[in-house]
Amino acid sequence: MVALGGIRGGLALLAILLMSCTVKITAQIRVEPPHWWVGMHDTSLQLMLYGEGLAGYTPHLDVPGVTLEAWHPGASPNYLFLDLTIAPGTAAGNLPLRLEKDGASPVSVSYLLKDREFRPDDFRGFDSSDVVYLITPDRFANGDPNNDVVPGMREDRLDREDDYGRHGGDIRGIINNLEYIREMGFTAIWPSPLLTNDMPEASYHGYAITDFYQVDPRFGTLEEYRELARECRRHGIKLIMDQVANHCGAYHWWMQDLPFEDWIHFQREWQQGDPITVTNHRRTVNQDLYASKADRERMDQGWFVPSMPDLNQGNPFLARYLIQNSVWWVETLGLGGIRQDTYPYPDKYFLADWARALMEAYPEFNIVGEEWSYNPLLVGYWQDGSPNREGYRSYLRSTMDFPLQRALVAALVNPEAWDSGLIELYEALANDFHYTRPLDVMLFGDNHDMDRLFTQVGESETLAEMAMAFILTAPRTPQVYYGTEVLMQNSAKPGDHGLIRTEFPGGWPDAAKNAFTGRGLSRAERNMQQSVMRLLAFRKTSTALHRGQTVHFAPEEGIYLMARQHEGETVVLILNKNKGPVSLHLERFSELGLAGRHLREVLSGEVLEWSESLSLDRRGAYVLATAE
Ligand code: CA
Repeated sequence: MVALGGIRGGLALLAILLMSCTVKITAQIRVEPPHWWVGMHDTSLQLMLYGEGLAGYTPHLDVPGVTLEAWHPGASPNYLFLDLTIAPGTAAGNLPLRLEKDGASPVSVSYLLKDREFRPDDFRGFDSSDVVYLITPDRFANGDPNNDVVPGMREDRLDREDDYGRHGGDIRGIINNLEYIREMGFTAIWPSPLLTNDMPEASYHGYAITDFYQVDPRFGTLEEYRELARECRRHGIKLIMDQVANHCGAYHWWMQDLPFEDWIHFQREWQQGDPITVTNHRRTVNQDLYASKADRERMDQGWFVPSMPDLNQGNPFLARYLIQNSVWWVETLGLGGIRQDTYPYPDKYFLADWARALMEAYPEFNIVGEEWSYNPLLVGYWQDGSPNREGYRSYLRSTMDFPLQRALVAALVNPEAWDSGLIELYEALANDFHYTRPLDVMLFGDNHDMDRLFTQVGESETLAEMAMAFILTAPRTPQVYYGTEVLMQNSAKPGDHGLIRTEFPGGWPDAAKNAFTGRGLSRAERNMQQSVMRLLAFRKTSTALHRGQTVHFAPEEGIYLMARQHEGETVVLILNKNKGPVSLHLERFSELGLAGRHLREVLSGEVLEWSESLSLDRRGAYVLATAE
């Protein structure tokens, strides 16, 4: 019997126990995807069957509407891939697959085709009318202490003193606090990956997936993930799934018996125990006209880190596996988007096929790809429709705005000078001419991989609030990292990932303060939370912020002004870095057509008249909106 490492009886796992009729043997067969649906956009389906000696079997299927087109043994004797076509109109039900081999007892597998649960309209992706709340699940809230330690898993302990240990946060913790997320005004959540990471250490982060169809039991069950999706829907919150197509964890169940000789890059080295070549992280090779083959291959094929095998999407069975896996989760959860990790690292033509398959099946869907570059030329390249001489089409709607994130912080912390301070923000936003759709680019002040915003701005409450005001009014799709709304920081150890992902106050019952209820928050933390809440509440119904035209004015004397306008609504953001009171003469902004209008300042509630000048009595952000 084949050792099926990683089987833990989770609901996502399908291990069909089969009894031969004639001989008393039992065989465990893993089938992935574990089930499928009738009436899908793509009528084809490829099943991966894994079990002892399966490559030598011949499959048979005789069901109306479903055709067994072909089958392919793996290079390993234990894999068999089946190509099916499911005709439109086929009824849901069990497919009786029969596997036969000379001299062996036949094996039967019952494969379930379900009716689809969601309608095409349900798969509406996040967009610039949303604000995305990024959550590190292990660190947000522990809703179920019973799943903190799962015996048998390689990291089977809780260590809340260790920044890189597991802290016990889970899906139940997110469900329990959706009301907080909704009340704050976030309209989408992006939890970092919730699938099994059966790794010996630092498994909390979720990016070393060891089973692409199983929810990590320390985060909960598939049923709880589905409950989270349902509760999100009920709260008007879109659920974004964090997916990883570039690599898996070194303890993925298939690593002991890979289907083909080229399933992962540097497969032979890994199997021989040789040192593994890691990627060069030279992300420009995807665009560079002069990139050497050596650099390109090292970038694409090198492992992200030695504990994460680099998947070879050039193997068509693996490419198919990954595409179907994404579709399976979209369909299972009724997702409102996918965030794809490490976008420049897999083969870019595979990524185009992957994104295309999803966007054709779910035309209103959205995917954001993580290109961590401070160069807007690279970030823009990935956005669908971006012109390029090679004719590459990405099918990717959204990318991440690392360039503007960095410019925003620089603009706030650097002193005002000809080429420093607010001018850096002004000029960075001016790069938008390069993007196909700036509104679809995701902007943030921080995320799980970089210093907390409060730390980046030198723990200035005012600068943090100014950054949030810009992020939430800019022509972008904003994203906020959990806890940034209460000034969470990692100043003791800048750059330390474990500390960046600190426990959310109130997510554990022994916490000294509770940001869900406000108990014990400092005045500054409460003020920031209130500011973010006010901005989010305003943003929710402001079409000018969702899709308005943008006009901005070159900063002068420490003041930057940006306006968003849509069908009579105008929102003006003023970032004022002057410490003392100043009078801002408005003549220069007359093109906004605001003379004589009354505007409400969103953060203070104060109503002002737009006349000759505005007196700005404090350093900070002013968000002015025309009254209804
Ligand atoms: Ca827990």
